[in-house]
Amino acid sequence: MIINKIKENTGILIRFDDIAPNMNWKMMDKCEKLLNEYNIQPVLGVIPKNQDEELLNYPLRDDFWNIIKKWKSKKWSIAMHGYTHVYDKETFKKDFLNHGGKSEFFGHTYEEQLTRLKSGLKVFDDNDIEIDTFFAPNHTYDLNTLNALKDVGIFKVIDGYGLLPHTFNNIKFIPQLFYKLIFLPFGIQSTQIHINYWKDKDFIEFENFIKKNHQK
Ligand SMILES: [Zn+2]
Repeated sequence: MIINKIKENTGILIRFDDIAPNMNWKMMDKCEKLLNEYNIQPVLGVIPKNQDEELLNYPLRDDFWNIIKKWKSKKWSIAMHGYTHVYDKETFKKDFLNHGGKSEFFGHTYEEQLTRLKSGLKVFDDNDIEIDTFFAPNHTYDLNTLNALKDVGIFKVIDGYGLLPHTFNNIKFIPQLFYKLIFLPFGIQSTQIHINYWKDKDFIEFENFIKKNHQK
């Protein structure tokens, strides 16, 4: 029974992280072309108000929100990825997924987290983009994050471990297992992609992966 359930749910979800006005557009253009060729719709983690110094070093496209709208019209999913993507707390591995490292959300009061989420959602709203999915920068959450997410009407998070989606605290977690392009023959997998750090060889690997697995 369980095996059948897993088989029915086979699929690969491609998640692009750190989508923002400043990014590695050259690489993104190549990925877009490839995804179009195979008619694949990824999930894009869009940073509503990027203030991350590292990301700000990348070239800017100021028609960013029109580009997002174009992608949305092609049925690409848009998720909110943090608010400013600036880490201002240390988790000491006490975060919800035991990921560790720094966080934009973990360790802040419920009110502060709620404010950040609402401010992020307002940016999407101002640009006519509806959001029902979230994932935090650096995979770091605490219970306040989950409660604040529910209170702004977000019940889906693409993150965490496991092979199949599961629900905790009324929030559906869609597993985010792989940093690398690995294919396991069962379960729903979300493949996390940070194109900002990609070199040409990473794109070629991605291209080969898509060619091999595009039916999934
Ligand atoms: Zn990120």
